[in-house]
Amino acid sequence: MRRISVFGATGSIGKNTLDLLTPGEVEIVALSGGRQVDLLAAEARRFRAQVAVTCYPDCYEALKNALAGTGIEAAAGPEAVVEAADRPADWVMSAIVGAAGLLPGLRALRHGGTLALANKESLVTAGELLMAEARCHGATILPVDSEHSAVFQTLTGEDRSAVERVIITASGGPFRDWPLERLAGATPEQAVAHPNWAMGKRISIDSASMFNKALELIETREFFGFEPGQIEVIVHPQSIIHAMVGFSDGGILAHLGPADMRHAIGYALNWPDRAHVPVERLDLARLANLSFQAPDESRFPALRLARAVMATRGLSGAVFNAAKEVALDHFIARRLGFLEMAAVVEETMARVSGDLRRNDAVLSLNDVLNADQLARQKAEEVARQRLR
Ligand code: NAD
Ligand code: MG
Repeated sequence: MRRISVFGATGSIGKNTLDLLTPGEVEIVALSGGRQVDLLAAEARRFRAQVAVTCYPDCYEALKNALAGTGIEAAAGPEAVVEAADRPADWVMSAIVGAAGLLPGLRALRHGGTLALANKESLVTAGELLMAEARCHGATILPVDSEHSAVFQTLTGEDRSAVERVIITASGGPFRDWPLERLAGATPEQAVAHPNWAMGKRISIDSASMFNKALELIETREFFGFEPGQIEVIVHPQSIIHAMVGFSDGGILAHLGPADMRHAIGYALNWPDRAHVPVERLDLARLANLSFQAPDESRFPALRLARAVMATRGLSGAVFNAAKEVALDHFIARRLGFLEMAAVVEETMARVSGDLRRNDAVLSLNDVLNADQLARQKAEEVARQRLR
């Protein structure tokens, strides 16, 4: 039986992943979550998991009580999450949100199995390291972000050297057509209301600010190794085409599908085969129109910042992501305005760039974690100067 662990099992991607699995057909090794202890325990019971882990130490008692008498181990804290990834598994879903997903993902690769990677932040923060770790252990990383799954599927069987361009689509989010003056006053409630996708709160707001697409540009660069100039973003409000690949003969292959993450998760689960996945089938006549527009970098500066990261690589992705996470926290807490998030990230990148040192030709985990910490401190300083 296939041994499976799901990190971030109580989140949007985690729940969609468990929805595709059937108790008794898979052996669940570890499930991790946060404060939704009841949900975590219920899923651990349903799948008879070996261990359930909450990343919050203060949730330990509640989790232990909820699992009393089941024989399922309970654990808590960030280290326990990483230790759970040390348990051998054949297929691991990395669906923790934020840079916190990096360490469990790195550990899981050591088993040489498959890492289904929804946690884009780990590629942005430490792409070089993650890809090297996979190679070193003969592990496979499969992208779960819909655009990257689409690129991966489109490239299958193709000659990589014939690729001219990779185009990832962006819905444009709830503020696609908002003028700059209106964006300045956008609230967290407005930002979280994504028109096409049902996602976690943080990625929904990142979609509204296009920081999500910025992370995805960097993710495309790190995962597939294309040059920054080959990677494009196009706004496509219907979210039906997820990505396109253009080849040297002028042809473009597109990947289409419903806006349901279970497609990309199911693809990673069944790869290299394809199996039935219960998502809606597209009715193209009813859709009628697929439209495109160029992204507006003056209203969505995150895209411009991502270009800088793609050009520099090294530790700049760790800085970019950490500063973004800090700025997002302040926006959610209504201490920063919507447009100030990009300003904080840009200023943090400028302030930190001189302080960053990589010790070796190969990026080390310590370098990455230090850059992440330094950027969080600087971003707090920068944000504090702007706080309302
Ligand atoms: P979510 O907020 O719904 O769930 C996040 C999960 O991570 C929860 O289980 C939570 O308990 C856990 N978690 C949060 N902070 C943690 C920490 N510090 N340590 C350990 N666990 C922690 O998020 P989501 O929307 O499911 O997104 C998960 C990841 O997948 C993100 O990296 C996101 O960018 C990516 N992703 C999501 C979607 C989507 O449709 N939701 C699409 C593409 C990529
Ligand atoms: Mg995506």
